Amino acid sequence: GVDPVSRREFWDALAHLAAEGLTILLATPYLDEAERCHRVALMHQGEIHDLGTPNELRQRLGAQRMEVRTTNLAVAEEVLSPLAGPEQEILDVQRFGDRLDLLAPHPDAARVIVQEHLSDAGLEIQEILLDEPTLENTFVARLRALGEEVHDEPFPARHDHTQRTGQVAIGASRLTRQFGSFTAVRDLSLEVHYGEIYGLLGANGAGKTTTIKMLCGLVAPTRGVVQLAGWTKQLRSSEVRQSIGYMSQKFSLYNDLSIEENLEFFAGVYGVPREEREEKKRWVLEFSGLEGREQQLTGSLPQGWKQRVAFGSAIMHEPSVLFLDEPTSGVDPLARRSFWKMINRLADAGTAILVTTHYLEEAEQCNRLGLMVAGELVAEGTPTSIKAAQEGVLMEFVTDQPQRALDLLKDTSERWRISLFGDRLHVILNQDQADGERMYREKLAAAGIKVISAKPGRFSLEDVFISVVEKARSKGKARVED
Ligand code: ATP
Repeated sequence: GVDPVSRREFWDALAHLAAEGLTILLATPYLDEAERCHRVALMHQGEIHDLGTPNELRQRLGAQRMEVRTTNLAVAEEVLSPLAGPEQEILDVQRFGDRLDLLAPHPDAARVIVQEHLSDAGLEIQEILLDEPTLENTFVARLRALGEEVHDEPFPARHDHTQRTGQVAIGASRLTRQFGSFTAVRDLSLEVHYGEIYGLLGANGAGKTTTIKMLCGLVAPTRGVVQLAGWTKQLRSSEVRQSIGYMSQKFSLYNDLSIEENLEFFAGVYGVPREEREEKKRWVLEFSGLEGREQQLTGSLPQGWKQRVAFGSAIMHEPSVLFLDEPTSGVDPLARRSFWKMINRLADAGTAILVTTHYLEEAEQCNRLGLMVAGELVAEGTPTSIKAAQEGVLMEFVTDQPQRALDLLKDTSERWRISLFGDRLHVILNQDQADGERMYREKLAAAGIKVISAKPGRFSLEDVFISVVEKARSKGKARVED
């Protein structure tokens, strides 16, 4: 539940302590966090399956990541997925909000295959970019080689919302919510369409949960209008409730009920027809990997498993509008993939989905993103367009003293410009790339820090998020929690 800005500060603090000689051992299911460690051990079922620096692990995968942008991602995924597998020219296909990621040992060969198949399917390729694989790619590939698979049980869908695809499902017009004299959400307007996955991002306390609660009728706005699944009034009626699903951040299941009892309860509350209940409950158990454990008390499940059951409970009634507030907190990479496969399927079937997350690699799975700072929506667009709108140029420096380099540059430039990813220093330059690079090289050289390499990089969503939040803060838009 910690937001990216605070997380980066936390990691800077850890890097500092490590540079002073402290040994730190930490556990995380998030591979973008693992990228910041000196060495990483990939553990599965009680055994270590790989160990090395993030770079070594990436190299061992022996593949490049290809970002493919095309006219219809759902169709492209359907066409390319069957070609992927171990020993193939395409090792893996993963769908994101506005691109597909492929892992390919020989990108040139893979490119020909992709072009051929997509053109046969009548799709136009807009762009193919090559990049390094992420640690998450590496970990998922490793797990698959061990025979682990992404849970992909077909959902027993009985309803179809595709006839509404493209229409407005969630509409907010100048929504404001005050708690006493404090304004949690100010003048927020947004639209989410049927068939769309919309991600709401923001620092802790930015107002995301309050926004979701207003949008689904749980909190009354102080001002502004909400439109939800065609309704503007009485959003808490049972009719509206049956059209929406809500997985809340704090509460989603009763700990002192068994898994089965929770499923039965939510099937009842959401009005799942009796004749559909058994198949739906069975699906949730399969999706969660909990078949045979239905009598277990929910409170005894680890967080990641509870999240799977909660997600299943929120979609059993096939809502046309789905709110997911940090659904994947504590969920491991393979299970996260199952979540997103399912979320994409629901969107393909016409469901409108509004999701919050603090993991920006995951935010790339959304079709559109809204960025909130201190109760206001300050940026909106597709993941690609939000990154493209970022001003300046990103340079990636590798130095012999990454921590000292970070401290030095942070002290002498605006903080949001500088961040450390593992041993790579990201610096956002304003000016002409050559001038900027020279200036930073001089600063580093003057302090006796050697630059091993410097090359232009591409903005990650995290670079953008942090600079948007830090810039807004520097203009005085800040909150205690922010
Ligand atoms: P997080 O990422 O931590 O979940 P968020 O973006 O979802 O944060 P909200 O939970 O919407 O943020 O909170 C926004 C602000 O409104 C916070 O300052 C919070 O303390 C305040 N707030 C929320 N609910 C109430 C309430 N019922 N009474 C008073 N203040 C509240």
